[in-house]
Amino acid sequence: SNDILNKILVSSCLLGEAVRYDGKDKLLKNKILEQWIRQNRVVSFCPEVAGGMSIPRIAAEIIGGDGHDVLAGTASVLDKSGNNVTHEFTTGAQLALSMCNQLDIKIAILSRRSPSCGNKTIYDGSFTGSRVSGAGVTAALLQQNGIRVFNQTELHNAAKFMSKLQ
Ligand code: SF4
Repeated sequence: SNDILNKILVSSCLLGEAVRYDGKDKLLKNKILEQWIRQNRVVSFCPEVAGGMSIPRIAAEIIGGDGHDVLAGTASVLDKSGNNVTHEFTTGAQLALSMCNQLDIKIAILSRRSPSCGNKTIYDGSFTGSRVSGAGVTAALLQQNGIRVFNQTELHNAAKFMSKLQ
């Protein structure tokens, strides 16, 4: 088995890094993740910081679709003050994909509901806390390139998927 070589991209905030828009982290305490960290498989990445956003930053949501639509040019990412941050979000997504390609990463654990990282659900663009089905911009780009994206509630499924890769 070459499983030691399989790396996993993980949202930095889930690893306890204070990179979220509000300057906080979203530390995930989970045995599977802790084992992957001990095995030196985990690659920390925050697409919004990589894309040039500051910490803290104004909360942003996707307007007019999901991350796939942003990548297709038919939806935008705006912050709550109305600034268009689509370029920063797509840059962060491209850098996440580059990192995966460089390290031959096939799987990512990304923080749910984020306009960058959400894999299944995102906020609906109304800044009211309402959610809709859809992926964030980074999750969408990774999915389009054959990288499986799980969220922090799906670690068991992620581990199963990993074991089939080997
Ligand atoms: Fe976490 Fe992703 Fe938001 Fe960065 S962009 S703070 S990694 S959810």
